[in-house]
Amino acid sequence: MIADLHAHSTASDGQHAPTEVIALAAARGVTLLSLTDHDSIDGLMEGETAARQAGLAWIPGVELSCEGEREIHLLGYGVDARDGAWHAFFAELQAQRRTRAMAILERLRELGVCLPQEAVLGAAAHSVSRTHIAQGLMDAGAVTSIKEAFARYLRTGGPAYVARPTLTVADAVARLRARGAVPVLAHPGLIPVHEEVLTRWIAAWHEAGLMGIEVHYPRHTPEQIRRFERLARGLGLLVTGGSDFHGAAVRPSQLGMHAARWRTQEEDVAALLAALPCRASAFTS
Ligand code: AMP
Ligand code: MN
Ligand code: MN
Ligand code: MN
Repeated sequence: MIADLHAHSTASDGQHAPTEVIALAAARGVTLLSLTDHDSIDGLMEGETAARQAGLAWIPGVELSCEGEREIHLLGYGVDARDGAWHAFFAELQAQRRTRAMAILERLRELGVCLPQEAVLGAAAHSVSRTHIAQGLMDAGAVTSIKEAFARYLRTGGPAYVARPTLTVADAVARLRARGAVPVLAHPGLIPVHEEVLTRWIAAWHEAGLMGIEVHYPRHTPEQIRRFERLARGLGLLVTGGSDFHGAAVRPSQLGMHAARWRTQEEDVAALLAALPCRASAFTS
């Protein structure tokens, strides 16, 4: 088994449509995929159909951006793409993203870089993100890579940075749990805070209903993997893993690449599947 529980498509800031992500996953030997677009479930119906056709096991997912400036990301597994209440919630988050994107374009204008609104908002059919603005900066010749766009302008606290409205982790956890979905803390190793503080936060989020930690992640060091796994097991939280695939043009991670060091994958994935709501749950081929 190779389970990749974290991947993006054109429903947010990924390079490939959901059907292409499934085909690429199958080609890389991935046997279970979860699509987890930023604040968007718009790729899930297409992904589910493609997964079924390709014979891949499938979990519908999402990645929620929480806590404004702190950039804490929460994965939600087992979201039901047919549930109208989810559509209303994500429509609101996507409207906030469009407002924020326009504010970032205004900052860039003040810095002397003019990007047409439609070049950015038009490229993002669903959930606009800083990645789309980075792409616009590249297309305009203002930078030569997405990395440079973040380093010069868009990084958190950077000259063109605008925070999102705050959705707290506790609120996001409650919202996911209320509809039966499973909330998992994404890539804790990327949260720029001292490890003791993070450990305290995770304990508090666990109290608030957090159900898992994304332990296996390409940018986690072996030491971080050990530490987060110990923390998860100690609290009785699920252990998950994913590549955070966006497509090679957006960032270097490859589908399934986190799985090589994930020795407990079979049991961990079985525990996640058991925790999913039955209405929206995975299908396993
Ligand atoms: P947003 O959700 O609009 O705040 O945009 C965040 C997205 O931008 C993340 O999901 C990443 O895909 C991407 N991103 C954030 N920081 C960087 C960076 N330093 N280099 C490249 N991409 C980044
Ligand atoms: Mn992204
Ligand atoms: Mn993330
Ligand atoms: Mn992600």
